[in-house]
Amino acid sequence: MIVLGIETSCDETAASVVTDQANGDARILSNVVLSQLDEHRPYGGVVPEIAARSHLDHIDRIVDEAMREAGVSFDDLDCVAATGGPGLIGGVIVGVMTAKAIALTHNKPFVAVNHLEGHALTVRLSEQVEFPYLLLLVSGGHCQLLSVEGIGKYKRLGTTIDDALGEAFDKSAKLLGLGYPGGPHVEKAAALSENPERFNLPRPMKGKPGCDFSFSGLKTAVRQTAEKLPPGPFKDEDLNDLCAAFQMAAADTLVDRCTRAIKMFKHDYPSGNTLVVAGGVAANKAIRERLSQMCDKHKMAMVAPPLKLCTDNGAMIAWAGLEAFKAGQRDTLDFAPRPRWPLDPDAPKAAYAGG
Ligand code: ATP
Ligand code: MG
Ligand code: FE
Repeated sequence: MIVLGIETSCDETAASVVTDQANGDARILSNVVLSQLDEHRPYGGVVPEIAARSHLDHIDRIVDEAMREAGVSFDDLDCVAATGGPGLIGGVIVGVMTAKAIALTHNKPFVAVNHLEGHALTVRLSEQVEFPYLLLLVSGGHCQLLSVEGIGKYKRLGTTIDDALGEAFDKSAKLLGLGYPGGPHVEKAAALSENPERFNLPRPMKGKPGCDFSFSGLKTAVRQTAEKLPPGPFKDEDLNDLCAAFQMAAADTLVDRCTRAIKMFKHDYPSGNTLVVAGGVAANKAIRERLSQMCDKHKMAMVAPPLKLCTDNGAMIAWAGLEAFKAGQRDTLDFAPRPRWPLDPDAPKAAYAGG
């Protein structure tokens, strides 16, 4: 089976062709990602209108490149998949319309992929990971713990009551004068710290019931700590120590919340033994390391996608499209892009109510 996947939900214009007739990373026949970073950098974040126009300018060329690199023609495809949401609506429309046009012209089925399901299933592209598994989804817009029971079958155990973790990385980096997106900059600075214990930042929600998250207080603590530093451009030493403190507080919080989620997951699935970490923040090596140590303690295996498949790309959408198509999913050409599209629509709002 050969599938073309298109991703345009944020600031990457991406297309990829994947197959299930090979093993591991060999399944990726092409994976072309055009980042719009330079266009958004002056604004310190993604500007939706600029993103949508840029997707429109580049999508045809990126799809062509992905097809050429893969060495396949549109007629060779079994289906065409695109991110149908959640995300910035202008960009999602561009990707969905492109996929529908290809599907219609070449008489191929169209599959609308939930971007979050793309993150959730990517790990199965490169490794054999069976359902059910516990998923920690940590990205720019989401921070959730879910039981993944199968394709399209998710049960949410916890979510953030305010910021996503990637967002907290980005906002903290911005107020420290580091570049966008903040995650990689904070990770790099933290690795250079000679005194990671110097600043003590809060571990929001640590020890609280359930496994919801909260990260806006941590970001505020970074700001308050930074305000006490000598004015002017920060010294490298201060910056590195503060980034290390932030990263450690984030990792501690994840470990606390995941430890609780493991108990909830094992209650439902006594033989379940895998934690999958996905989304952009899963590219953080220090966080991967901490979560892996935690899993060792609880006799769980920790699995995360290869680093370059953690942040947005087309392969994750092509792969989730392939899995959904195999499971019988087909979408009609009147599918309407969905700016909001929860993986578990039945989940209540964040369960945490104080105490
Ligand atoms: P969503 O998937 O929730 O819709 P998104 O697609 O914008 O959001 P991703 O592409 O999955 O998010 O991830 C981007 C986020 O990951 C950014 O917030 C970025 O700072 C963060 N990130 C990327 N690399 C790292 C890293 N090495 N350490 C920490 N965070 C990182
Ligand atoms: Mg991005
Ligand atoms: Fe994403």
